[in-house]
Amino acid sequence: MAETLATAGGVDIAGITKRYGDATAVDDLTLQIRQGEFLSLLGPSGCGKTTTLRMIAGFEHPDEGDIRISGRSVLGEPPYKREVNTVFQAYALFPHMTVAENVAYGLQQRRTPKAEIRTRVAEALDLVQMRHLADRRPTQLSGGQQQRIALSRALVNRPAVLLLDEPLGALDRQLREEMQLELKLLQSRLGITFVFVTHDQGEALSMSDRIAIMRHGVVEQIADPDTIYSRPASAYVAAFVGQQNFFTGPVAEGGTAVETPEGLIRGATADLAGVARGQAAVRPEFVRIAAEQDAASTAPVNSVRGTLLGVAHLGETMQYLVRVGDDTSLIARRPTPEAPSLTVGDAVLCSWEAANVLLFPADDAA
Ligand code: ATP
Repeated sequence: MAETLATAGGVDIAGITKRYGDATAVDDLTLQIRQGEFLSLLGPSGCGKTTTLRMIAGFEHPDEGDIRISGRSVLGEPPYKREVNTVFQAYALFPHMTVAENVAYGLQQRRTPKAEIRTRVAEALDLVQMRHLADRRPTQLSGGQQQRIALSRALVNRPAVLLLDEPLGALDRQLREEMQLELKLLQSRLGITFVFVTHDQGEALSMSDRIAIMRHGVVEQIADPDTIYSRPASAYVAAFVGQQNFFTGPVAEGGTAVETPEGLIRGATADLAGVARGQAAVRPEFVRIAAEQDAASTAPVNSVRGTLLGVAHLGETMQYLVRVGDDTSLIARRPTPEAPSLTVGDAVLCSWEAANVLLFPADDAA
């Protein structure tokens, strides 16, 4: 076992499986969460994120495998004995108690001395800048304030690991973005390990030190956000994080290219050597677009002709939807200041660099 995992707050998950009847929610999953890191579990609904989190918390028990927290197996330990705490999307605050009483509840259950409770509740409320609302009841607070109290209540026990299950899901977009920033700052200040469940890729990219992408109960790739975005390990990851244009066809040129009805799509590496059919992927932000008569290059590689179907103003960027061939569409995105002025129905040429093309086996479809 890695040395870091023996220190407080490391979580070592070794081959855990969880079945519900015939369904396997988590399938021989292995994952090492480092002490003090912000790790997100990201994936579509039903891929096993919540079940994994609940097993770390102790609300569910794996059928197989082991979970070690701070170097010690916690199998068989009830949730309250583990050095973890959980923040849920539904804040589950007690409506009849004040904010301070809500935060104090866990400490009272553990028979913590009164003076210590007072100090720790004040500290925990300060962490989320909510001390001034200590005497309010949860019903007198906004959604964002309630979420802060739920966070404060989870932190008051000074857990080594904080588990967060879609904690910002109920907030509107602006508040969610503010809370993302606050949460990230709080995490780096406290140095507590955060395990954050989300299906929102933007949220995971902006907050995490590392992201574990889950699929059908296993981790498909674990890496820092930049690697996940720029070097996805599979077509599944490439499609789930950010947008991609995919082209499918027989592999050509010694595994460096894919032949498609739209033309040859070439990458910069021979990732498909020995593979029969492949998928080439290119992100919309790498696709240049020009009216066909203005296009400097009509080279047959990494450039496709099409008809402009729509243009959307996204603020900082303009997004173009292009019909290519009979049933393929392509998305191009350009920074607004340098976006070409095009009209729906225009004949256009889209092109991109081989260095920006990712190649995957076709049977690895998302
Ligand atoms: P979501 O984002 O929708 O919460 P998730 O990735 O967190 O999804 P889980 O909630 O972990 O996924 O569920 C994984 C699979 O296990 C799903 O197919 C789900 O239906 C199933 N499952 C989860 N909990 C139970 C349960 N208590 N009983 C039966 N099946 C369950």
